[in-house]
Amino acid sequence: MDLKLQQYINGKWVGANSENTRNIINPFNQEVIAVVPEGDESDAKAAIASAREAFDNGEWAHTPPTERGAVVRKIAELIERDKEELAHLESLDTGKTVEESRGDMEDIAGVFRYYAELADKNGGELIDSPVSNSISKVVHEPVGVCGQITPWNYPLLQASWKLAPALVTGNTLIMKPSEITPLTTIKVFELIGEAGVPAGVANLVLGSGDTIGAELSSNTDVDLISFTGGIATGKKIMQAASTNVKNLALELGGKNPNVIFADADFEIAVDQALNGVFFHAGQICSAGTRLIVEESIHDEFVNALVERVKKIKLGSGFDEDTQMGPLISAEHLAKVEKYVQAGVEEGATLAVGGKRPEDPELQKGFFYLPTIFTDCTTDMSIVQEEAFGPIITVEKFCAEEEAIKLANDSIYGLAGGVWTNDIAKAERCAAKMRMGTVWINEFNLYFPHAPWGGFKQSGIGRELGKLGIEEYTETKHIFQNLKPEPLNWF
Ligand code: NDP
Repeated sequence: MDLKLQQYINGKWVGANSENTRNIINPFNQEVIAVVPEGDESDAKAAIASAREAFDNGEWAHTPPTERGAVVRKIAELIERDKEELAHLESLDTGKTVEESRGDMEDIAGVFRYYAELADKNGGELIDSPVSNSISKVVHEPVGVCGQITPWNYPLLQASWKLAPALVTGNTLIMKPSEITPLTTIKVFELIGEAGVPAGVANLVLGSGDTIGAELSSNTDVDLISFTGGIATGKKIMQAASTNVKNLALELGGKNPNVIFADADFEIAVDQALNGVFFHAGQICSAGTRLIVEESIHDEFVNALVERVKKIKLGSGFDEDTQMGPLISAEHLAKVEKYVQAGVEEGATLAVGGKRPEDPELQKGFFYLPTIFTDCTTDMSIVQEEAFGPIITVEKFCAEEEAIKLANDSIYGLAGGVWTNDIAKAERCAAKMRMGTVWINEFNLYFPHAPWGGFKQSGIGRELGKLGIEEYTETKHIFQNLKPEPLNWF
């Protein structure tokens, strides 16, 4: 593998201080595909010191925004140049199909391009002053040193949502990818160096969340934590970040409803209901795992889903006809199995799937059959908790109000979908659904200029779009009195 396989601190590729290493596993066959350093708190501290020094010396923060934009645009070009290698690495590391990874790489280059364009469009403004002979202006400045922690499901895509806006706004950063899928993030740090980001501005540390992630979250030299992952980890980070009242951006997953009305285009709704979940084996924060279907079409809809699900082809992400790869790890497979068992015990009806595949060729991989439960109710754990696997639960509704009530009955509020040909009904539903994104006759579509993030326990703040820039800037009001006079009060 032509990859550095090290940490990137202060512009240099380095091993872990402890010299410990970690094996990176291919989830398709459990083969070791790479050995990377297993850093700890001491590596995190070195990377934080490097980012602090790079921020405090002001070189990057005071580089003209247009120049920072040019560097970020160069990263986009290098990703496009190395797209095939990156897509190959992502599929090897995560098990997803290489076709999907190619699409990810295009999206990722698009994110860097989008923020490169915004680099010099974040100027301040003059505001009216209550005092004559004065200047009152509002300017935006980088937050400072940013800790960025990413999950394993979309390793490089999630990284790009954090790296690009942080860099164009003049911050310095330390990124910690998930310990099990660091390969494309390592590669992108090679490209960051090649693009001309100065030493110390962007640092990469490799290791576990309990050590490196906890250090980034609590270290008082870090000004902001941007985290994507589960709610439990997000809560720990919030507590740790209180040491110096860090800025926080949290993207914490979802349990997303997909509401199907009887007047929707039946075939398209069936097709997109499947796409909304079984991409990347359901390991998507925005997966539409909670199907809420109008009673009059419920049985026909479920039958159509089941017929299509039986034909989903599992296999290696590198085989052209594979539609769904393995889950990420043995631990995650066990978690998904536990949820299916809970679903059965809680009284849901298993319509299809519910077990590992029997194909001998798939036995070494962490495969699980796409699964559908019917007769589901909101008190069931498979309806309320994020299994993060290939599981759809189906609930029934009779009236529009009931559909909305079911859709909103969740601690999460990341995304949701509505399928209907009645425009007024669609708008009524979208207005009442308590989620950061609502799709109408669409599911799982995101793009760089639309903000992404959650209501309720799905998180704090927004990534992507112009709001993604705001996460990485502080707002300052500068007031200058051009003709000061004494107040003569005391
Ligand atoms: P985790 O919360 O387990 O981990 C996410 C990241 O946090 C990893 O890098 C992990 O490190 C790190 N981490 C773990 N413990 C700590 C800690 N105490 N302090 C700081 N960092 C820590 O999530 P998963 O990796 O399992 O990812 C799946 C989750 O991510 C799902 O809940 C999913 O919904 C969510 N997600 C949300 C998205 C969104 O946009 N809202 C998008 C994608 C995923 P390590 O793994 O190395 O131990």
